[in-house]
Order: sequence, then structure tokens, then C-alpha cells
Amino acid sequence: MADERIEVDEIEVHRDSHVFLRFADGYEARFDVGPLRLACPCAECRSRRDLGQPVIAPLAAANVAIADARLVGAWGLGVDWNDGHATGIYAWEVLRHWAEQTEGEPTFERTDLPSPAQAAGDAAPPPDGFDGGFS
Ligand SMILES: [Zn+2]
Repeated sequence: MADERIEVDEIEVHRDSHVFLRFADGYEARFDVGPLRLACPCAECRSRRDLGQPVIAPLAAANVAIADARLVGAWGLGVDWNDGHATGIYAWEVLRHWAEQTEGEPTFERTDLPSPAQAAGDAAPPPDGFDGGFS
């Protein structure tokens, strides 16, 4: 039996501002494009976040918009961003979890944040040549 909490009835893509979803159980959520871009779930952006690097250059972040979006099967939304990045697929299940967890305050993937132990110095050192910046 299908899970109505991770099925979506209605999708609105407002390219310059937000994505609106209504789930099959009536739950509604709005995702602003900036946080959505920063939360890109693709492998490249994940590893950038893991390294503490910006996912997107600050200038691009200020002008982020959706260039195109498409359904991916029945389980998510594929987004092409105006910065040329198009590898992230946002699963309904992940978006639902995000919306419920944050109640509109976008702090995607809290579990990706360093734990107190990591912040205290247990984190892996940066690779050789890592300059700590975004070029
Ligand atoms: Zn990405």
C-alpha cells in the first residue's frame, strides 16, 4: 500500500522563488530556491558539504533560480539550476522530512553538520593542497 506521506498531489515550481508541494495526505510545504540549491542531494554537493566547502559560489547563491524541473519517476523532482548544476534529485520523502523537521526554517540535513566531537578536532584533516576556499 502506498504511503500518502511521500506521495505528492500538487507541484508548483516558481523558478525564481520557491517550490510548493502538497502531499497526498494534505500536508503542504514550501521550499525556497536558495536553501534548496544549497541542500542539493547529489554526490558532488554532499562531498562539498562534508569538506565544509560552499556548495555554490556566493555570487551565484544570491541569484539562484530554477532553470528547469522535471518529475523523476514517481518519487522526486529533478532540478536544473541556473548555475548549470543539474545532477540533484530531490526525493519527496527527503523533502517531506525536511519540511517536518524544520517547520519552514531551512536547515537541510542536520545530520550532515559536524557533531560536537568532530568540531572539537576529530574530523579528518583536509587533503593536501586544500586551500579552504572556493575559487
Ligand atoms: Zn549537487
